[in-house]
Amino acid sequence: MTKFADLGINKNILKGISELGFEKAMPVQEEVIPVVLETNRDIVALAQTGTGKTAAFGLPIVQDIEVSKKYPQALILSPTRELCVQIAKDLTAYSKYVDGLKVLPVYGGANIEAQIRALKMGVHVIVATPGRILDLVKRKKANLSKIKTVVLDESDEMLNMGFRDDLNEILESAPDDRRTLLFSATMPKEVAAIAKNYMFNPEEITIGKKNSGAESVRHLYYQVQARDRYLALKRIADMNPDIYAIIFCRTRMETKQVAEWLIKDGYNADALHGDLSQAQRDHVMNRFRLKNMQMLVATDVAARGLDVNELTHVINYNLPDDIEAYTHRSGRTGRAGRTGVSIAIIHSREKHRIREIERKINKSFEKTEVPKGKEVCKKQLFHMIDKMEHVDIDHEQIDSFLPEIYKKLEWLDKEDLIKRFVSLEFNRFLEYYKNAPDLNIPDDRDSGRRDRNRKKDRDKDYKRFFINLGKTQGLNPQRLMGLINESTRDNNIPIGRIDVMKSFSFFEVNKSFTDKILEKLNEANFEGADVSVEIAKDRTSKGGGGRRSENRRSFDERKDNRYGSRRDGDRNKKKSSRRRSDNRRK
Ligand code: AMP
Repeated sequence: MTKFADLGINKNILKGISELGFEKAMPVQEEVIPVVLETNRDIVALAQTGTGKTAAFGLPIVQDIEVSKKYPQALILSPTRELCVQIAKDLTAYSKYVDGLKVLPVYGGANIEAQIRALKMGVHVIVATPGRILDLVKRKKANLSKIKTVVLDESDEMLNMGFRDDLNEILESAPDDRRTLLFSATMPKEVAAIAKNYMFNPEEITIGKKNSGAESVRHLYYQVQARDRYLALKRIADMNPDIYAIIFCRTRMETKQVAEWLIKDGYNADALHGDLSQAQRDHVMNRFRLKNMQMLVATDVAARGLDVNELTHVINYNLPDDIEAYTHRSGRTGRAGRTGVSIAIIHSREKHRIREIERKINKSFEKTEVPKGKEVCKKQLFHMIDKMEHVDIDHEQIDSFLPEIYKKLEWLDKEDLIKRFVSLEFNRFLEYYKNAPDLNIPDDRDSGRRDRNRKKDRDKDYKRFFINLGKTQGLNPQRLMGLINESTRDNNIPIGRIDVMKSFSFFEVNKSFTDKILEKLNEANFEGADVSVEIAKDRTSKGGGGRRSENRRSFDERKDNRYGSRRDGDRNKKKSSRRRSDNRRK
């Protein structure tokens, strides 16, 4: 690798970049820097994020600035606000020892007046999103007439984001004798068209190698119904018992909610979001760093200050709006010589976003099936058996008890012992996954048929009940769900279709809760009226009602508890104590 001085970088800039730890040039820098410094040629470079392309165009650009001339001499166009800010920060750092050199980021969605004021004070390099710079030019607040170099960074992304007309307009209005440097991770037709229309005999450079981090990351996606996102997340976590992951959500609300569900379902998780105090943030981050927590649910912003190298997974609970953020998220795994997995949980209409990201990162996603209940059980079971095989035995502590234990278990043979041991640890898990539905959705033409089969499957899981309350008594679906939750003291019962009639109603509930519904609702009271619930007669036998599976209300993901038995156990205790007191009354 070449030294920067050998590429023609001057002393002041060398001083700046040596503080950043840049010693040798990266391949894209070796290729681009001499062309920019020594020739007037345009450049089309195929290079991705992480290859060092910012310094490849940034170093010769800052070196080329005539600081005494206080007007914009270079314009760098970039698709997002975050990138603009990052590039401006990088260029400012390169030129730390170049007196008076000013770099300004301008981007949409921020106060334009402040940007106008900053421009008035004189800047040499503008880093801009296309829409905003065009706006500033039209208001005559940004002067591009003396621009020597235009950089189109992440060109494919700018076009994906619909900036084509803006780019054309900017390139039309930039001086004819300027130089254009185009960078893109991919070369779709639209990017090639820009190169053809606005560049003259460009030098073509292809940088094949991505940074080593990105190479070691596998990208997977799981496609489920939007409402099944959380269930899919649980299965992923259950399939990976040693998971150490950041789960990225889009909003604070979502972050809080997902963490709450995970904690309630018995996972070792917590949330990191902007509503926490500094002390709370530090506490959560420390627990995670020390691996006292396996899953951290976070927003992009909140996770920024967290540097952990050993993540097994990065999970996109929801894909970020900005594709660049996906690269940052996934780059958090597969570091320091390890391999990592970046997972996106997407719903049926988000497939195009996967394709966009693939284009951007120049890597393919593997479509992955959400594991079925049985697979998860098998994985967990063998994980536990494996742990048993490798457990440390503290002879000092247990040896004295062993003779008595052997004696007590004498009547069991080896097979019996194993069966009992597995059941003891595992019954609740097996129970939870026993009727767990297939969460996968197809993305092909069969989807209609498979959807119907899925609905049929769900039909099999549900029991339909009659209740003696209807609109007249003030019942509506929300109040009925409230009644079910309150009277059973369980917010996790999967509720299906609800039909509220004038003076009675029907509702469906996962059939494993049949006894509980009958027992608890028949003890309940609604607005002073006694509640009476019974299993509904089969609609088809009465000849009415039509197809049962149509318009089924989905069951809510929250209603599916991981084990569903911890609190049931408590309730059973209550139930039996109530029975005991009933007996006493008798
Ligand atoms: P980029 O592709 O411009 O986003 O750069 C990727 C990362 O590599 C950034 O964190 C840069 O600071 C870093 N970087 C760029 N050039 C060098 C270099 N020559 N030596 C060490 N690190 C570099």
